[in-house]
Amino acid sequence: MNNKCVFIDKDGTLIHDVPYNVNTDLILFYEDIFEPLQNLQDEGYKIIIISNQSGIEKGLFTESELKNAFNHIIQQLKNKGIEILDYAYCPHDTDNYLNPTCQCRKPQPKMILDMALKHQINLKESWMIGDIIADIAAGNRAGCQTILIDRHATEVAKLSKETPAIERPTISIRDFKNVDDLILSTLKQSTWSEIL
Ligand SMILES: [Mg+2]
Ligand SMILES: [Zn+2]
Repeated sequence: MNNKCVFIDKDGTLIHDVPYNVNTDLILFYEDIFEPLQNLQDEGYKIIIISNQSGIEKGLFTESELKNAFNHIIQQLKNKGIEILDYAYCPHDTDNYLNPTCQCRKPQPKMILDMALKHQINLKESWMIGDIIADIAAGNRAGCQTILIDRHATEVAKLSKETPAIERPTISIRDFKNVDDLILSTLKQSTWSEIL
């Protein structure tokens, strides 16, 4: 379990969120992701995409259409020198926090935990990055530190003093451009619970 990893959400984090889209013509990357991911990769971080894809169970697209979209994303990142080690998606359709019909949909941590086992990843040295609280809760539950990329400041507005610790990000920021510096400088300082 020696590898450190950046687990990263796809829609709204790596690429603009077009709901239930698998059309590669409509996939648009956020331009500020490339350099930080390159730098983190240079520092030895593996990069794995962790994605909820309820459109499959909803019947909006097939697994092969989704995989085609993932392959496109992986190739585009490769063209920028960024290697995606693996990806995981939950195909299930449930938003029921308390009584989930699957164990994998974020905010559950199973996709992250399974990837950690598969790729010998040290979760304590790893990060989950996403644009909504469900990403943060999944990462925290898996034992990672977490970054909320809240580009529209909609998610931070949902946090209050009553928000459980499991839903609180280690770090909350408005864009991706300093993610590498934040991870590399936070690394030796403290854990997320100590920061809050
Ligand atoms: Mg997202
Ligand atoms: Zn699932």
